[in-house]
Amino acid sequence: MANAAVSVAERRRTRQIHVGDVAVGGDAPVSVQSMTTTKTADVEGTLQQIYALAGAGADIVRCTCNEIEAAEGLARIVPRSPVPIVADIHFHVEMALAALDAGVNGLRLNPGNLRKPEEIKLVASEARDRGVPIRIGVNAGSLDKSLYERFGGATPEALIESARKELAYFDEVDFHDVKISVKASNVALMIEAYRLASETFDYPLHLGVTEAGPPPGGLVKATAGIATLLAEGIGDTIRYSLTADPVEEARAGRQLLEALGLRERKGLDLIACPSCGRAEIDVIRVAKEAQEALEERKIPLQVAVMGCVVNGPGEAREADLGIAAGRHRGHLFIKGKIIRVVPEDEMVEALVAEAEKIVAEGLEARLALADESAEGEAEADRQALYDAKGADANHSDEVVVRIRKHLDAGTKKPGPDPA
Ligand code: SF4
Repeated sequence: MANAAVSVAERRRTRQIHVGDVAVGGDAPVSVQSMTTTKTADVEGTLQQIYALAGAGADIVRCTCNEIEAAEGLARIVPRSPVPIVADIHFHVEMALAALDAGVNGLRLNPGNLRKPEEIKLVASEARDRGVPIRIGVNAGSLDKSLYERFGGATPEALIESARKELAYFDEVDFHDVKISVKASNVALMIEAYRLASETFDYPLHLGVTEAGPPPGGLVKATAGIATLLAEGIGDTIRYSLTADPVEEARAGRQLLEALGLRERKGLDLIACPSCGRAEIDVIRVAKEAQEALEERKIPLQVAVMGCVVNGPGEAREADLGIAAGRHRGHLFIKGKIIRVVPEDEMVEALVAEAEKIVAEGLEARLALADESAEGEAEADRQALYDAKGADANHSDEVVVRIRKHLDAGTKKPGPDPA
C-alpha cells in the first residue's frame, strides 16, 4: 500500500546513537521531532501535548528545562511519556544537570550561550555516565560572538566551527554520544551549513530551519531546507519549527518522510486533482469531506479524489483507491480499475466504506470483488462526457466549414502581409 520508492540519494552513513529507545543515525529510519509549547512545570498539560505529538507522528519530543520547576516537571513527565524526552537547555548548566537527574533521554545544549569549558565538560561527563546523548544545537541566530566576528558573520564555516569546538570539549571527557544541528532561518545558509557538517562529521545530523514562521510560508521554508538535504541523503532526524500548534510540526515531519519514501505510510495520503473546467463536482468540498472522514478513521492508504472521469482514474491510477465524478455519478476505482459506479451524493460515503474494507481485507481481495459491469458503465459516462466536452468542444468541423465559406464568399483571399 506504500508508494514506489522515490529516488532520493542513498543515506549518508553516520554513527548511531539512541535517544531512549529511538535509534538515530546509522541505518535507523529518519525520525521526527517536535517541541512542546506548554510550561514544563505543567505536567498534565505537557503530557497531553506529548501524547498529541506522538499521535501525529513525533518519535521524540523536546521540552524546555529553563527553571527548577521545569526540571521537577520532567521528573514526572519522563516515566509517563509515550516517546523519549529531550530537555532543551540554554544558558544554565545547572538546568542540564537537573534534567539529567530528572531522567531525560537526551539533552540539547546551545554552544552559543553555554560557553564555559569546565561546565560543558561537567555536563558531558554526567551524560556519559548515564548513557544519555547530547545534541550540539548550533543556531545561526545565537552564534558565539567571537566566532561571528572571526568569520565575518554566521557563515556555514562559523556554524561548523562552533560544533567542532563543542565536540573538542566532549572528546576531552571521552563523550561521543552526540548528534549535531546547524540551524538557520535562512534556508540557503542552512542547506550549505548541513552539507558542510555532513562532510565534516560522522555524527548523526538533526535537520531544521529555525524560526520558519507560521504556515503556509513556514511550511514551505522548512520543507525547502529539510527536503533538499534529505533528497541528498543528508539527515537522520528532523524538526519543523513552525509558529503553530506543534501537532502541525509533527504531522508535517511525518508527511514529508512518507512523501520521500523514507518512512512507511502510517496515515492517509489524500491526493486530489486541482480541478479545472472539466470538473463535474466541487472538488475542494468533496476532497475536504473525504479527508476529514478518512483521517478520523486513520486510514493508511493513498486515496484520490478526481473531478472528472475523463482523465481522473488514469491520472490517479497509482492510488490505492479513488473516486472520479461524471454525469452525476461517482466512479470508484482501485489502482486505476473501476470497481463500482455510485450516485454522486454517495461518493464520500462509498469511498470511506471501501477504504475500510481495503484495510480489513486487502487490495487484491477487494479488486476480485469488482462489479464486472462497472468498467462498461464508466466507459459510457466517459465517452458521453468526452463527446460533450472533450473531443470537439469547439465543434471544429462546423467551424472550419464556416471559416472556408466566409473566405470563399469574400472577394479576395488574404494576400501577403503588407511590408
Ligand atoms: S481530473 Fe478532470 S477535473 Fe480534475 S484536473 Fe484533471 S481533467 Fe480537470
